[in-house]
Amino acid sequence: MTDRQRYDHYIGGAWTPPASGQYFESTNPATRQVLYSAARGDRTDVARAVDAATTAFEDPRWRDLSQTRRGRLIRNLGDLVADNADELARMETLDNGKLLREMRAQMRTLPEYLYYYAGLADKIQGDVIPASQREILNYTTREPLGVVGAITPWNSPLTLTTSKLAPALCAGNTIVIKPSEHTSATVLRFVELVAEAGFPPGVVNVVTGFGPEAGQALVDSPGIAKISFTGSTGTGARIASSTAGRFIGATLELGGKSPNIVFEDADVHNAAMGVVAGIFAAAGQTCIAGSRVFAHRAVYDELLERVTKRAETIVIGDPLDDSTELGPLAFADQRDKVAGYVELGRSEGATVHTGGRPTDAGLGGYFFEPTVLTQVDNTMRVVREEIFGPVAAVMPFDSEDEVLAMANDTDYGLAAGVWTKSLSRAHRMASRLEAGTVWVNTYRAMSPMSPRQGFKNSGVGVEHGMETIHEYTRLKSVWINTSEEPVADPFVMRS
Ligand code: NDP
Repeated sequence: MTDRQRYDHYIGGAWTPPASGQYFESTNPATRQVLYSAARGDRTDVARAVDAATTAFEDPRWRDLSQTRRGRLIRNLGDLVADNADELARMETLDNGKLLREMRAQMRTLPEYLYYYAGLADKIQGDVIPASQREILNYTTREPLGVVGAITPWNSPLTLTTSKLAPALCAGNTIVIKPSEHTSATVLRFVELVAEAGFPPGVVNVVTGFGPEAGQALVDSPGIAKISFTGSTGTGARIASSTAGRFIGATLELGGKSPNIVFEDADVHNAAMGVVAGIFAAAGQTCIAGSRVFAHRAVYDELLERVTKRAETIVIGDPLDDSTELGPLAFADQRDKVAGYVELGRSEGATVHTGGRPTDAGLGGYFFEPTVLTQVDNTMRVVREEIFGPVAAVMPFDSEDEVLAMANDTDYGLAAGVWTKSLSRAHRMASRLEAGTVWVNTYRAMSPMSPRQGFKNSGVGVEHGMETIHEYTRLKSVWINTSEEPVADPFVMRS
């Protein structure tokens, strides 16, 4: 499968050629070499996949499976992912250019997401409600929704797929996945493991293709009960208006422009490492990138010097090489977008303190130097808009109130970092920052157990943790009259 040249869709447990007969190519962003071609999905393919998922949802082999057995299948899948972690990591690195050592770590953690939801499967339960009449038994149940459409971006394809698939299956739904056109390979390998784990055919389906074609068709499909989307805020807004009009749910994990705030009492070495991790890890292609760095004026020069020094020694190169620290951007347009933002910053008055140039790193790929912008402020587009590349804007501040106002002055609210030794300040900042995740003296920490929610334009709904189950179930309230007494008055509502 790794050497495979051409992928079809995976529908109803079978490899299925695209209705149009068309395929598109995916390239290695480090070298521009073509890796494989994948089926170009359209409305017909999506309709087939949604039909297969609907049939599987109603199939007693899935519908009547006990919750414990559902959990066991998810656990089997976790074991298979663990067994194949290195292969999956390598495939993902070739496809999106992220460092192999980072992808290896991600793939080795992935089973933990599956084990977490495997364990949760038989803990999904309702309540008995103390209704006001003794003879009434009122209880709630949590039911699966039906067919979930999952649409994912290219920066962490399998991790972001799993954070939708694991809770969706745990709750008894079936799923149709549309991966990014830039990174289809690992999800297509993953569905082979799904079959091997013992899931009935049609429970998990994959339609590959382009966003405006296959993605839009999935969003528009009358057969889906929910869309779970990770991607840009612009696409998320379009999906939200479509799903809202049809009264179906949407979990939206969107963009960010996260502040990373360094106070005068911070350990400046650790803070500088946190700033570097926040913006240069994964070449800045993460939704949680700490792209706005605020440094207290007392430590501004020292922090800037440390971050600059580290940025200038970052090893740019082949992401398969374990000594590489910065791989390529995922595709040419992404590299051009980042370069365009740096030019825009210059024209807005920013200083390119270090970096600022595209490079092919001698490999022919889409690399971009780690870049630090100074002389920037919150009015500039480079500070307000998500760049999704290795570009940090560094700004000084003088007081806690001032930095809070600047940090919160953004359309986004995904994450924030705070570097301080003061416990009181840490709590104050955690409470007042408008972000769904706040890290203090760390950055980019994550766990399947910890819920994640984007505030403001960064999203709707929760991923990870137990709360996610509510995103993939609907609540039913059942009233049973246990009385054998005759009904006294049919015109009075009972309570
Ligand atoms: P996009 O919004 O461009 O694409 C995301 C997915 O949506 C892709 O599969 C894409 O397909 C598809 N898509 C595009 N247009 C449509 C459409 N009209 N209808 C349905 N689906 C569509 O985002 P990117 O791929 O550029 O991903 C980067 C973004 O993802 C950043 O903004 C980043 O912040 C965000 N992100 C958020 C995370 C979070 O947890 N909050 C985590 C990771 C990333 P195709 O690839 O074919 O265009």
